[in-house]
Amino acid sequence: MPELTAKRLQQVLERIANAEKIAAQPAGYVKLLAVSKKQPVEKIRAAFTAGQSAFAESYVQEALEKQSQLHDIPIEWHFIGNIQSNKAKLIAKHFDWVQSVSSIGIAQLLDKHRESLPPLNVCIEVNIDDEPSKSGATSENIQILANEIAKLPHLKLRGLMAIPMRTTDPKAQRITFEKITCLFHTLIAKGFALDTLSMGMSGDLDAAIFAGSNMVRVGTAIFGERK
Ligand SMILES: *Cc1c(COP(=O)(O)O)cnc(C)c1O
Repeated sequence: MPELTAKRLQQVLERIANAEKIAAQPAGYVKLLAVSKKQPVEKIRAAFTAGQSAFAESYVQEALEKQSQLHDIPIEWHFIGNIQSNKAKLIAKHFDWVQSVSSIGIAQLLDKHRESLPPLNVCIEVNIDDEPSKSGATSENIQILANEIAKLPHLKLRGLMAIPMRTTDPKAQRITFEKITCLFHTLIAKGFALDTLSMGMSGDLDAAIFAGSNMVRVGTAIFGERK
């Protein structure tokens, strides 16, 4: 049903446009990343045909299979999943962006395997609620990690990515997003040339945009429930 994907994509773009207005940001300020993990390639193709060009995946093998089936269309691929060190080489070679960098060791591996290719765009994943069960750098470690990434010639540090604790309470969502925005601006004030604040998903993209996000990662609202 390519029409359904196109329609839902349109609805998400309208939600973004509306949030941009309320946040007093110019139209097009927020970039939409379509999260296609656990979704079939037909839906990716449908979204691409409807104008979406940036897609995000969380599982390396799944992503590589899809990339080979979709090699005929110029997709910008983002990796947003957990990075195991034995997969760092594949990730470095097959993605344009990696948003889930949370340790110096992984950053160094990505850098090593990116040699001879254009620099890899990376974001530091922030564990904003300091949840022990979750990946991501803690607020205190972000600056150290940013300093180390800045030294790596084949990585280009673009910003921060965060997945806050799941809540439907808009006030709690807002407070967390504002904390992340604050960290982002602190890094910029320290001299890091960052341009990407990746936060907001299907359920909370509006709150994220009000708080300053300029990249939202949306799966379910575009493609429906995952398998
Ligand atoms: C799955 C995923 C998303 C998309 O979530 P939805 O609620 O389906 O929009 C966004 N970001 C990350 C890191 C994810 O793993």
